[in-house]
Amino acid sequence: SDHQLVYPPCPQEMDWSKHFSPSSPTTSTSKEKKVEVADIGCGFGGLIISLPKVLPGVRMLGMEIRTQVTEYVDERIRALRRLQGGEVYGDVGVIRANAMKFLPNFFERSQLQKVFLCFPDPHFKARKHKARIVSPTLASEYAYVLAPAGIMYTITDVEDLHHWMAKHFDEHPLFERLTGEEVDDDVCVAVMKTDTEEGKKVERNGGKKFVACWRRRVDPEWV
Ligand code: SAM
Repeated sequence: SDHQLVYPPCPQEMDWSKHFSPSSPTTSTSKEKKVEVADIGCGFGGLIISLPKVLPGVRMLGMEIRTQVTEYVDERIRALRRLQGGEVYGDVGVIRANAMKFLPNFFERSQLQKVFLCFPDPHFKARKHKARIVSPTLASEYAYVLAPAGIMYTITDVEDLHHWMAKHFDEHPLFERLTGEEVDDDVCVAVMKTDTEEGKKVERNGGKKFVACWRRRVDPEWV
C-alpha cells in the first residue's frame, strides 16, 4: 500500500539519475533534461517502449502501481539500452507510483507536454467509481502538470468509462476537446491504439477502442 511508496516531497527533490541514462556529452553542460511525457498506469510498458519512434529524444516516464510490473518494465528498458547503446532508450524510464495521489510530487506546474491514460482499470461498480483515474479533482491535477497546449490522451475499450472520462474533461474549464481530425492526425494516437499491451488484446478479441484527447487551455490570467 501507499506507505511503502517512495515519493519526493516536491519535484525539485526528485533524483532522476537512476531512472534515465546520463545525458549525452554534448548536452552535459546543460541542465538535467526534464520528463515531458507521462504514461499513467503504464502496465507492461508497450507505449513508452514504442513512443521514441515518434517522439525521439523526448524524456518519458511510465508510472505503475504494481511492484513486479514496474520491475519488469525497468528490466525491459535496461535490456533495450544494453542492446541499443542507450541512444533510443536512455530517455525512457519507469517508476512505481500511485499516480492518483502523488503526481504534483513528481512534476512541476506545466512541466508535461503529454499525459496518457491508456486502458485504465474500469472499476465497473458505482461504489468503485471513486477509484477511477479520472475525477474532477484528478482532472485539475492533470491540468496542473500539463503545459498550456499540452495534450491529455485517453483510450479504453469500456464505453461507459470512455463517457465518464469524456464528461470530466469536457466539463473542466482548462481542457478543450481535440476534433476528430486532430485526433486522427496525431502520431501518438496510432501508437496508443496498436502498441499498448491492452490495445493488442482488444485487437485480438475484435473489441472496440474509444479514443478521446484534450488540449490544456492557457490559464485565463495568462492570456
Ligand atoms: N496502460 C497499459 C496498457 O494499455 O496496456 C496497462 C493498462 S492496465 C488495464 C491498468 C494499469 O494501471 C495496471 O497495470 C494497474 O496496476 C495500473 N494502475 C492502477 N491504478 C494506478 C495508480 N493509481 N497509479 C499507477 N498505476 C495504476
